[in-house]
Amino acid sequence: MLRISQVFGPTVQGEGSAAGRHCLFVRTFDCNLGCTWCDTAYTWAVTEEKAAKTRSGKRYEHDDPAYGLKVMEPAEVMDRLRALWEVETRPTIIVVSGGEPMMQQRGLVPLLQRLSGCGNEVHIETAGTIAPVAEFDACVTQYNVSPKLANSGNRLSKRYKPAVLAALRDTEKAWFKFVVTQDYETDLEEVDRIVADVPVPTQRVMVMPEGSDRRTNIATAQKTVDAALARGYGLSFRTHVLLWNDDPDR
Ligand code: SF4
Repeated sequence: MLRISQVFGPTVQGEGSAAGRHCLFVRTFDCNLGCTWCDTAYTWAVTEEKAAKTRSGKRYEHDDPAYGLKVMEPAEVMDRLRALWEVETRPTIIVVSGGEPMMQQRGLVPLLQRLSGCGNEVHIETAGTIAPVAEFDACVTQYNVSPKLANSGNRLSKRYKPAVLAALRDTEKAWFKFVVTQDYETDLEEVDRIVADVPVPTQRVMVMPEGSDRRTNIATAQKTVDAALARGYGLSFRTHVLLWNDDPDR
């Protein structure tokens, strides 16, 4: 059984190297981290203790019908995707996001085998703390790896797993995306340390300005872009935020 928060689309991939592409989203429930600025905290901030990790401090309802936990068979998720788009005859990208989908990688294999078998690309959004197993990796087209920096509020030992990042790099399917805040110089110095330590090829690195509203997203991008380019890193906007602000269904 899979622990799911949302299945939605069609929409555009908002972030990273596939930004703007047509896709459907499967958003899994639960996360092994707790970022202060998380924009999908409804997938994990369901206790007072977890909610206290977020900037807003808001506790979400575990059984909220829209965004709360749905325990589903892989076939039910497939039915839901089929109702949204003809995934068996008009292949697209299925973005599996979270929360942290790698927490459920073994359970996801039957669904992902079915989707990739119909020609869909499978893109995994992960914070890069859990390495993929072979049968899961065989279904994946692209990993969008977003290692968390100190600005996320997570302990270093929880958020930074260089061996996992190296394993994802070695699949040759990974792009690395780092969230930077208004304090972009401090953030970029930390990105540099991670990129050198793992190491990660700079042409696979993008920095992405924080912000769940257009104004913050654009302002942080404008501050950051030249420093990122000078390092050989790309810049990712949050396309869904530019289009729809923080609408969780887009
Ligand atoms: S890793 Fe992602 S889903 Fe988990 S708390 Fe951080 S931003 Fe949210």
